[in-house]
Amino acid sequence: MSGKTIVVAGAGVIGSHFVPHLARLEDVGRVVLIDRDIYEPRNLANQDILPGDVGKPKVLVQARRLAKIRPNLEVAAIHAPLESVPLGTWRADLIVACLDSRAARQAVNERAWRVGVPWVYSGVLAPEWLARVNVYAPAAGAPCLECAWSAEDYRLLEQQYPCDGPARMPTPTGAPSALGALAAALMALECRKMLGGEVEHAAVGRQVTLNARWHQFSVTLFRPNRQCRFDHATWAIEPLACDAHDLRLADLLPESSTVRVPGQRFVRRRLCRQCGRESRVFHLECSLDPGLRQCDACGKPMATPGFDVVETLSRDLPPDVLGMSLADAGLRYGDVVQCGDRFLEIAAKGVIADDK
Ligand SMILES: [Zn+2]
Ligand SMILES: [Zn+2]
Repeated sequence: MSGKTIVVAGAGVIGSHFVPHLARLEDVGRVVLIDRDIYEPRNLANQDILPGDVGKPKVLVQARRLAKIRPNLEVAAIHAPLESVPLGTWRADLIVACLDSRAARQAVNERAWRVGVPWVYSGVLAPEWLARVNVYAPAAGAPCLECAWSAEDYRLLEQQYPCDGPARMPTPTGAPSALGALAAALMALECRKMLGGEVEHAAVGRQVTLNARWHQFSVTLFRPNRQCRFDHATWAIEPLACDAHDLRLADLLPESSTVRVPGQRFVRRRLCRQCGRESRVFHLECSLDPGLRQCDACGKPMATPGFDVVETLSRDLPPDVLGMSLADAGLRYGDVVQCGDRFLEIAAKGVIADDK
């Protein structure tokens, strides 16, 4: 593989217009697309798709498109909520967020800082025909997304959609296709600067706003906020080269008395509230099989009772759980486990983790 890696979250109003630019950015060698949704008929009005794309996962449609424009581009399509994607997947040269939900942007901000990767996000405000692009670069004393948030912003924070639930990100209504394309173009130009060694000219720590209705252009400088609710921590992540089918949960524990997967949790039992069917498991919730998400008796969604959630692994767990392999417990390559104050990324043997 040659060229840089870029992770793109969201392939909707802005993302569908943005993704093709990636194939034409010569510095890009690998693209990771993340989106949980499929294209719907109403998306034809303002997203850059064809009628035949309706009903298909957004990431697959865009991955095929990239392959047509540049066949040698390496593309990974992840059809899943971004919160469930292993932290290691976000280790890239640049992260791009084409997301209209505040909670989703907050999640990307957190991940970008944890792995220390700059990120770009773009948004539109339909009534004003306003497109904006922001760039954040994790560093000591640098502003993050949340630095500019007020108490009101936190109040407006949309209800987090759990990776387990049926909730979907809301789609902004009425954003014209051309506005999404404008935002996408602004963002692609910032990406070009960030990847092509022109970081000093990129909008790092700034918001660039273009109001196409009233022809107004502005640049706002963000300042780091000492009262920011986010901790701004970038983790020193070490690779844990192993065979996930071989290494057992107990093997992680001598390191420290407790182990956790930050931002994720394990479930011990799944229960159907409709018909009462239950299944006993021990698994990372976000990587549960579809069969454990839906009741096989009545088809209703299965839930995890509150008492059956495990946040931290310890020696107190039953021996059959401690004897499980990482893979059987739902841990994937790229997942980061916190053992005491160390952060270890599960990596396949022979694959050298990107040591940036
Ligand atoms: Zn901050
Ligand atoms: Zn049921």
